[in-house]
Amino acid sequence: MTDQPQASLALRFASLGSGSKGNATLVSDGETYVLVDCGFGMREAERRLAQFGLHPRQLDAVLLTHEHGDHIRGVGPLARRYAIPVYLTAGTWLSGRLGEVPHHEWVVPQSRFAIKGLEIEPVTVPHDAREPVQFRFRAHGRHLGVLTDLGHPSEHVIDAFRGCDALILECNHDRHMLDVGPYPRNLKRRVGGHWGHLANVQAAELLTRLGLDRLQRIVCSHISEENNRPELALEALTPLLSGDESRLLVSAQEHGFAWQSIA
Ligand SMILES: [Zn+2]
Ligand SMILES: [Zn+2]
Repeated sequence: MTDQPQASLALRFASLGSGSKGNATLVSDGETYVLVDCGFGMREAERRLAQFGLHPRQLDAVLLTHEHGDHIRGVGPLARRYAIPVYLTAGTWLSGRLGEVPHHEWVVPQSRFAIKGLEIEPVTVPHDAREPVQFRFRAHGRHLGVLTDLGHPSEHVIDAFRGCDALILECNHDRHMLDVGPYPRNLKRRVGGHWGHLANVQAAELLTRLGLDRLQRIVCSHISEENNRPELALEALTPLLSGDESRLLVSAQEHGFAWQSIA
């Protein structure tokens, strides 16, 4: 996949894959490329980046949301091998999961920063990690929200993600499937709890609170392979779209999703 000239001035995003086995999201303003998390091992990440026509050396930064394995696995190896700066909160660093990296920058929750032309706002989310954040991006006057790994739609999250033009949104589990599924009871309680992951119905509630008027793209992400099905996530969100279902897509564990440009 190569850069198309008409797309180069847009805020764009894509996924290398999403789900409990690994997450990695690409965000670009046409000049800057950042990877949000890398839950894939280094070789696998290289292979997946190549499918987007990208080499790890083209990445300006890796932004880390939190230290869980499905987000951090490949970050240290990639950063060390290709000298990519890693942006992370002090809490994520203190988890000790990253290892040494050649260059890191502190992310301070709620404090905006920029990487070249890409503006970034880290937002605190309720999740059971040391100091988890999710990110809101701005470039060319457009806003993208990346919002996964949260146990419930807190007021703070709703305020922080209002007015986005596109949203990558966690639809982790279907409550009934989680209930009757194979997870041990304590894990069910963790996933379904206030500091775990967002259920399809909570994603729908969050979207309703945010308002859908401006949203050109909504991507159902971090879908559990054990406790959810893409059809159930789509079924939960479709009624909110007033018939315009073309705005809704699903991010798969295997293939993520292709570049999306925000007009
Ligand atoms: Zn997590
Ligand atoms: Zn996760």
